[in-house]
Amino acid sequence: MPMRPAFGGPRLLLRRLREVMAEQISAQERLDKIVVLIAANMVAEVCSVYVLRVDGTLELYATQGLNREAVHLTVMRAGEGLVGLVAQTAEALNLSDAQEHPSFSFKPETGEEIFHSFLGVPILRGGNTLGVLVVQNRAHRKYEEDEVEALQTTSMVLAEMIASGELSALAPPGQEPVARRPLHLPGEGLADGVGLGHVVLHEPRIHVAKLIADDPARELVRMETAIEALRAEIDDMLDDEAVARGGEHRDILEAYRMFAHDRGFVRRLKEAVGTGITAEAAVERVQSDNRARMMRQTDPYLRERMHDLDDIANRLMRQLTGDKGVVPAELPDNAIVVARHMGPAALLDYDRTKLRGLVLEEAGSTSHVAIVARALGIPTVGQAENATSLADPGDAIIIDGATGEVHLRPTSDVENAYAEKVRFRARRQAQYAAIRHLPAVTRDGVEVKLHLNAGLMVDLPFLEETGASGIGLFRTELQFMVANALPRTAEQLDLYRKVLDAAGERPVTFRTLDIGGDKVLPYMEVIQEENPAMGWRAIRLGLDRPGLLRSQVRAMLRAAAGREIRIMFPMIAAVEEFDAAKAIVERELTHLRRHDHRMPDRVQVGAMVEVPALLFQLDELLPRVDFLSVGSNDLVQFMFAVDRGNSRVANRFDTMSPPILRALRLLARKGHEHGKLVTLCGELASRPLEAMILAALGFRSLSLSPAAVGPVKSVIRDLDLARVSALVDDLIDKPKPGPSIRQRLRDFAEAEGVSL
Ligand code: PEP
Ligand code: MG
Repeated sequence: MPMRPAFGGPRLLLRRLREVMAEQISAQERLDKIVVLIAANMVAEVCSVYVLRVDGTLELYATQGLNREAVHLTVMRAGEGLVGLVAQTAEALNLSDAQEHPSFSFKPETGEEIFHSFLGVPILRGGNTLGVLVVQNRAHRKYEEDEVEALQTTSMVLAEMIASGELSALAPPGQEPVARRPLHLPGEGLADGVGLGHVVLHEPRIHVAKLIADDPARELVRMETAIEALRAEIDDMLDDEAVARGGEHRDILEAYRMFAHDRGFVRRLKEAVGTGITAEAAVERVQSDNRARMMRQTDPYLRERMHDLDDIANRLMRQLTGDKGVVPAELPDNAIVVARHMGPAALLDYDRTKLRGLVLEEAGSTSHVAIVARALGIPTVGQAENATSLADPGDAIIIDGATGEVHLRPTSDVENAYAEKVRFRARRQAQYAAIRHLPAVTRDGVEVKLHLNAGLMVDLPFLEETGASGIGLFRTELQFMVANALPRTAEQLDLYRKVLDAAGERPVTFRTLDIGGDKVLPYMEVIQEENPAMGWRAIRLGLDRPGLLRSQVRAMLRAAAGREIRIMFPMIAAVEEFDAAKAIVERELTHLRRHDHRMPDRVQVGAMVEVPALLFQLDELLPRVDFLSVGSNDLVQFMFAVDRGNSRVANRFDTMSPPILRALRLLARKGHEHGKLVTLCGELASRPLEAMILAALGFRSLSLSPAAVGPVKSVIRDLDLARVSALVDDLIDKPKPGPSIRQRLRDFAEAEGVSL
């Protein structure tokens, strides 16, 4: 057996590499020096760097030992040869006889036929493959574990170099390194609008500035201490009383505990430190390997585990750096925030004057963060897979909240196209502004009142800007969600008064607190439930703990002194609940009267229809209410049993299909029969095609997001309602094979000259 050559060990090599990285030389010279250093250190006859290009091929960028003439000429197709295999699998390949391997492909120009042993490692960053680093020897030998480790560690330096973009200048267009390439990510449009700006990561990645350890023994101690602290942190979270009661959260923490104690994970971390890198760099390396492996999984369960491992790695990193991972207080101008997921409260924490857009990896169109984004007019794209690991802070980015497209590091062509799009949108906005003061009346003379969905002071100017008929849904919980402490009655009163002042003669419908589910208040104890959407939320909480509801109703009634007010209750499931809620309003009215407060001129009390059971109590409910408002976001989620916030299922069924359309038509008809106003305030009303269908079903009042008023009004004004109603009725009553109802109505609109 051949003797193992004296391997220099990674620490010395890393130190030398650090010097090379600091030198003021060209990118090519730097790469050339790096391969010489690695080859010498590893006692290898060959060291080569292959860089993955935008066209999916791997190009030889530097070599020591192979024919230098082949640099920038040798190109391997994706998956071709051993180098291609390493890139494809993102795993190290260690062979004592490379030519025996079925994937071996011979490139005559390189002169590599004389080398038998081969060690290739992927150059990874955030789990994404950027290239391949290879060493080769003439003799048949298998590289030792510590040599493989050392080469992987070394590849981190190359990953940083490639990711910095300094190699891009070496390549002709279309053949640049894949890192920092322009990317087009198809997502789902959640909030309309085009956003141009620069990436801000919601959970900033901790940048490991220092890769190479000054004192490796100390790094090992730091790593051990951090792992202990991480375990203690997870134990503390598990001991937390609220968590201890069970639920999904607990399961996640249990999984975290398992990872934090996993011997393989801990061993890999320590081994990485053993190669001479800092503890932080070791966490990054191990996590990058994990990601690379997990990203190749198609099993959604395993992919979900990738997020858990990311979380664990981030927590460990924070233990090491002491970084608390808080949202940056100062947003740069034109910020586009990129996040894996986000709650509505977190979105409201951002400075809206600088926020130009939002990209989420997870989140469906009726999730509350999407609703808040729409309410605030922040262009938003969801389902942008892997966005957080592909985007770097400061990258140029363009998002289109209508089509769901995300362009990362866009080319100038894309930039120009979007600049044109922005101009086009501005022209359309001007057209909408021109019909602002006109009513939404169909061609055959039927008016559909358009109201706004609102919830914050910032929404109020939209009343004037859009020419809406009033506020059809004022989500009072938003004030609670943005506050740091429970808003006092006086603060609620103040907001409601301002809302009514801003609305003037226009009606305002306040919804009482709808918290619970995914709407959590930062200052309230979190109650873990298996199914929060179907748990103790909204009116259920209000009736069980009436103190809060009473004070809120009192604030509303006092704000309405001398004017009209409409109050509605969310998530009513039974007539008795409505009776009980209405009794609270009456009690507060009596209280005000007794204390000589100025009374409202008129109080209208209504229920939201969000729970399917109400559909079968309409004849009992309608005589009791002054109006109904259909919360289609929840109603649809419960009718189809699809979690509105779960992107995997949220769009599984088309809302514009007979079951939902029949339910909605029933609501409109029953309201008409009983002479009660029925409004629809879910997100359906904000989409032109859906709004057209709602009008056809008999809705004469819709409540929608401010940005949707113009487009929806223009559709209504183009519409021959009798014709579209006949078509919709026919499609619902006699479902037909072939194109969907949605498609048939799109075709109808086109034929009728209605621009959706
Ligand atoms: C709804 O459910 O449709 C609704 C309007 O309420 P929210 O989206 O706030 O739950
Ligand atoms: Mg709802």
